[in-house]
Amino acid sequence: SSLFGHVEPAPKDPILGVTEAFLADPSPDKVNVGVGAYRDDDGKPVVLDCVREAERRIAGNLNMEYLPMGGSIHMIEESLKLAYGEDSEFIKDKRIAAVQALSGTGACRLFADFQKRFLPDSQIYIPTPTWSNHHNIWRDAQVPQRTFSYYHPESRGLDFAGLMDDIKNAPNGSFFLLHACAHNPTGVDPTEEQWREISYQFKLKNHFPFFDMAYQGFASGDPERDAKAIRIFLEDGHQIGCAQSYAKNMGLYGQRAGCLSILCEDEMQAVAVKSQLQQIARPMYSNPPVHGALVVSIILSDPELKNVWLGEVKGMADRIIGMRKALRENLEKLGSPLSWEHVTNQIGMFCYSGMTPEQVDRLTSEYHIYMTRNGRIRYQQRLELFSFFVLFIISLAPL
Ligand code: PLP
Repeated sequence: SSLFGHVEPAPKDPILGVTEAFLADPSPDKVNVGVGAYRDDDGKPVVLDCVREAERRIAGNLNMEYLPMGGSIHMIEESLKLAYGEDSEFIKDKRIAAVQALSGTGACRLFADFQKRFLPDSQIYIPTPTWSNHHNIWRDAQVPQRTFSYYHPESRGLDFAGLMDDIKNAPNGSFFLLHACAHNPTGVDPTEEQWREISYQFKLKNHFPFFDMAYQGFASGDPERDAKAIRIFLEDGHQIGCAQSYAKNMGLYGQRAGCLSILCEDEMQAVAVKSQLQQIARPMYSNPPVHGALVVSIILSDPELKNVWLGEVKGMADRIIGMRKALRENLEKLGSPLSWEHVTNQIGMFCYSGMTPEQVDRLTSEYHIYMTRNGRIRYQQRLELFSFFVLFIISLAPL
């Protein structure tokens, strides 16, 4: 028998598998609203003007040298300002250990490996539901997982009471994964007041918050506002971890540009932690890619270009907010007996529609519409399509 005869095909990834199935469908009417990437009105990928301009400045001027093990110092500095605030005392005091990471996924994985190596008996609490890859990341890092309540299906909103109970009932000093804004897949975020209560409770329990911030700017249109949850925890004196991604908010998906940061007790601790993060990266990929990091640092360090970026992020967020309004109006105009308030209450890139896996399967097999089986729809297709969804959803038994 052959050496690899026992290797079975891996189960399809619930998100990337949708794209594979979409590509294999010969129908000219097919539509993919599965993968989380922003699209224009024709369903085409979008490259931001600020990114094109940064690339023009790079063209012909860049050598191809390795970055340091921890990545671009310049890009890290700009990333920290974005997450912790331009004038953050933690940046001034050099209390933050930070490395460039392979986008948000790589930042989460690096943190999970760090957690396993230095706190081998710890667990990670992950919200229900969450981005499916969170489970894979902490599983492969061999950190045991627990879940905490997050989404309340009946109200299609936050299960705040359940969430607070789970925070209270977790052993003191637990690690929690929190979506900093635009929770994926539900689009449901705590209010500022609720974040304050969560932070207060974390303090009492001495829990460690790890913020996955994959959509800074995509929720409200303003990256500063979207960092509010993190800032509240910082004000309350927590140590935190943070994964940043430029995939969505700069449209740098395939460039794998991101940052992992850990706020430490003092500079000495930060130096030690950073060196250990580099040590984990070294045998995996040695050092991170240079091009995306350069694009990010050029945009964020030039006030004019940064303004272009801020305008473009706002443009993307506002366009999605507009689609939410239009979708809800269409649904109500068409006489749906159901409440669609959640469509406009949710924020970020997705509509957590409430469709069942079976309903999603029918959309795919009968209408060639591809999406994840949890009913998550990415908001960037033409509105006609949403009217179609509307008709389809209405034709079904109440959800
Ligand atoms: N975290 C969340 C919640 C996400 O939704 C995503 C992307 O969909 C990521 C992290 C990571 O994306 P990337 O690795 O492309 O930055």
